[in-house]
Amino acid sequence: MPALGFGVFQTPPDETRAAVEAALAIGYRHIDTAAAYLNERGVGEAIRRSGLDRPELFVETKVWITDYGYDQTLHAFDKSAGKLGIDQIDLLILHQALPGEFDLTIGAHQALERLLADGKVRAIGVSNFMPDHLSRLMAATSVVPAVNQIEVHPYFRQSEVLAADTQHGILSQAWSPIGGITFYRDGAHGSTLGDAAIKEIAAAHAKTPAQVMLRWHLQHGRQAIPKSVTPSRIAENFDIFDFDLSADELASIDALDTGVRGGPEPEQITRENFGRQIPEA
Ligand code: NAP
Repeated sequence: MPALGFGVFQTPPDETRAAVEAALAIGYRHIDTAAAYLNERGVGEAIRRSGLDRPELFVETKVWITDYGYDQTLHAFDKSAGKLGIDQIDLLILHQALPGEFDLTIGAHQALERLLADGKVRAIGVSNFMPDHLSRLMAATSVVPAVNQIEVHPYFRQSEVLAADTQHGILSQAWSPIGGITFYRDGAHGSTLGDAAIKEIAAAHAKTPAQVMLRWHLQHGRQAIPKSVTPSRIAENFDIFDFDLSADELASIDALDTGVRGGPEPEQITRENFGRQIPEA
């Protein structure tokens, strides 16, 4: 999997093809989508129009909680692969744990293991799994998730989840890597893009705050999947391979953690509150 990918959460279905085409033209080779984003078709169209050979691309998508349970998750693969227009998914992950119905989460993971054994997916993983969820999952299943995709940005670092991932040999993948989820937050710790410490580091390297945050993830060994529909930003976010942050700079970004989560609390995810039907392919 490339160290830097491209996200499409909240990218409207009718803008997805253009955004992904722009990303592929710039050089991104990993796209992160999800059944629940309802834009897998646009990702597939962009892949087909790119002219790139399939092995050059790394396609990741997620199974939504409504499709958990062994048989349902096997069918969720068919829905996603059908919309993407591909036979094999490079990385298929469970979008959330269902802590109150963990048997369904385990059944979903067992279906991922079946898909892996059958060669329909090349790797399997999870998202928004807290250390307790990882332990419960691994006690009941046989394949360790390759990836845990979690909220990580300078204002919410989840160091205990990062440590649990490392302990189990799971790659941490940062969602909202430039703090997109903080942009509309009021108060002293609003947008990470406007943070004085990050701006100062950016100025010292003649880079932008977004580039500094992405570099921070990569130098800490995390994979990152910034999202944008803006071609200039899509290019900016990819232009991060020509500078290094010092250990002090990394530590000063680490120190910005506020402990305030932007996304939903993983322990409170239920089908009642977050369920939605995922259409057929
Ligand atoms: P993000 O990538 O941190 O930020 C996206 C926001 O930043 C958008 O508003 C984008 O605006 C703006 N932006 C992008 N590059 C910029 C730049 N260089 N300068 C200024 N603004 C910039 O946040 P995210 O979209 O929440 O997360 C990224 C990806 O993670 C998602 O697309 C999705 O693939 C994944 N994700 C997963 C979960 C999960 O539960 N697993 C949850 C959330 C996200 P424009 O698009 O208007 O340019």
